[in-house]
Amino acid sequence: MTGANDDGMIGVAAARRAILAGVVPLPIEEVPLLDALGLVLADTITATADIPPFRNSAMDGYAVRAADLRAATRTMPARLRVIAEGPAGYAPRGTVTRGTAIRIMTGAPLPPGADTVVRFEETDEPTRDPAHAAAEPEVAVFVAQGPAINVREAGEDLRAGSVALAAGTALRPAELGVLASLGYGRVRVHRRPQIAIVSTGDEVVPAGQPLAPGQIRDSNSTTLAALVRRYGGVPRLLGVARDTVAELTATLAAARDADLILTSGGVSMGDYDMVKDVLRAEGRIDIWQVRMKPGKPLAYGQLGGRPFLGLPGNPVAAYVSFELFARPIILRQLGHATLDKPTIRARLAERVRNGGGRQHYVRALVTAGPDGPIVRPTGEQGSGVLTALTRANGLIVIPEGVEALAADALVEVEMLHWEQGAGHFPAVDKQG
Ligand code: AMP
Ligand code: MG
Repeated sequence: MTGANDDGMIGVAAARRAILAGVVPLPIEEVPLLDALGLVLADTITATADIPPFRNSAMDGYAVRAADLRAATRTMPARLRVIAEGPAGYAPRGTVTRGTAIRIMTGAPLPPGADTVVRFEETDEPTRDPAHAAAEPEVAVFVAQGPAINVREAGEDLRAGSVALAAGTALRPAELGVLASLGYGRVRVHRRPQIAIVSTGDEVVPAGQPLAPGQIRDSNSTTLAALVRRYGGVPRLLGVARDTVAELTATLAAARDADLILTSGGVSMGDYDMVKDVLRAEGRIDIWQVRMKPGKPLAYGQLGGRPFLGLPGNPVAAYVSFELFARPIILRQLGHATLDKPTIRARLAERVRNGGGRQHYVRALVTAGPDGPIVRPTGEQGSGVLTALTRANGLIVIPEGVEALAADALVEVEMLHWEQGAGHFPAVDKQG
């Protein structure tokens, strides 16, 4: 179901589409390689040289001619004269000719004349007396082997002129390693979005300050800033605004150059819910309330030409709404093509009800069962119960209009975390 229904509320999928329609990747900048972790490559990278750049040994052993080993066995080894050492990091020191060998280390260039490398384990090396090795420069080889064994060819990883990484690739540790191997110290990526974060509420006190009666601490600023950082944005914490149009407007003045403005609280129907008034007066409202649970209150619009997302105040609702709507904005601004949360199908351990009929995101723990993932809710689902989220690693999605999901049903779970162990995603018991 998409679009508004009788309530005038929009569904989750339609809200996401509407929100993302106006979001584009941010300008490109060059950053040091390591700072690009999680960012998106702006240009296609072509290998300017072969990787590896030269033919080299894949093993510690002896560089030899396969032709010299033809009849070699354990009882009748080929005896070769060792003419040089070939450590890694140096040009070859000598040429292998008939009846000779060069002692070679992993990564050292294959010397001219050699076409194969015999591992130490296939020679008398392990039993040789190192003290006499210099005096007896001969090695016994116990195996016959063909050419190109234990040899890494130049360009076998990447050939000069071939595409190493396409523009739009998300840079993970392996991609950064490929760039390093090609000689890059810096890389061009879409810059990180600056995300302004404002908490609202007369009762909300910045962390670290004492509480007066009726007050609570601001947890949303910290949670939302951590989520922003996790997904590649730069959080800019603007503190807590009290519930007046004047104070919220004044606080938001410092957010005018942000790539996304996030507020939490003040988007419900209460007497002190100012976000809507500020947006109406100073910007634009495109979306107001989404058919989801937790987190029906949500405002999307623009303020000073910047995207503005007013999240609910309840900590869990703010978190879930961030995952559904703010995360894809950040990812799109970074240039990512995949914006959906990773979703798995898991076997439901117990029946789960969906009271109100809105799309319901149930905090849940996915564990590895013998026949695939099993998922169970993490208890109390009140939208203020943040600790239920600390025990969860995913959100069971109960689609709109579905009354309940039966025990044992295969259900969709949007994964929040993949880490194994300690309340995250326990590994299959490999002992059993
Ligand atoms: P609101 O949407 O402003 O009505 O807030 C809904 C609930 O979330 C209220 O119980 C607030 O006290 C609580 N809340 C709002 N902002 C925060 C915050 N920054 N940290 C923790 N709880 C909050
Ligand atoms: Mg409030």
